[in-house]
Amino acid sequence: MPTFVYMTRCDGCGECVDICPSDIMHIDRTYRRAYNMEPNFCWECYSCVKACPQHAIDVRGYADFAPLGHSVRVLREEDKGTVSWKIRYRDGRIKEFMFPIRTTPWGSIKGPAEYAVPDPKGLNSVLLAHEPEALMVGSLPTLTAMKKE
Ligand code: SF4
Ligand code: SF4
Repeated sequence: MPTFVYMTRCDGCGECVDICPSDIMHIDRTYRRAYNMEPNFCWECYSCVKACPQHAIDVRGYADFAPLGHSVRVLREEDKGTVSWKIRYRDGRIKEFMFPIRTTPWGSIKGPAEYAVPDPKGLNSVLLAHEPEALMVGSLPTLTAMKKE
């Protein structure tokens, strides 16, 4: 479900432009408001929806999810730690969903340069970064060479 911007709510702050990983949120030079310039390339990550301080960004629902005539509103409520979705169908029915979001404080995530330099020997390991500890499974099964008959 790609995003679009309500121009009457947008104040052109550019938060969505900065955060979009697909670089498709742009500020219209004439109107000074944001718009999604290439909905086909939208990752549907909703980072822009969550970042917009004006709640000016919404999504277009797919027909199998919300048939024509619907509207989908997304709201990020930082104080409650939730993202909520509200779908209004054309017959007037309303469905609301709420999801908890992670509670990492805004702006507190460390950049790659703030971590210790990785050990180059890790390039020869079959394990991915932070495996197995990040998987919390103790250890991973290892492949053993098959015996020739
Ligand atoms: Fe960019 Fe993600 Fe927003 Fe799509 S949902 S416009 S990819 S930030
Ligand atoms: Fe407009 Fe919201 Fe984007 Fe700011 S983050 S430019 S208010 S759509």
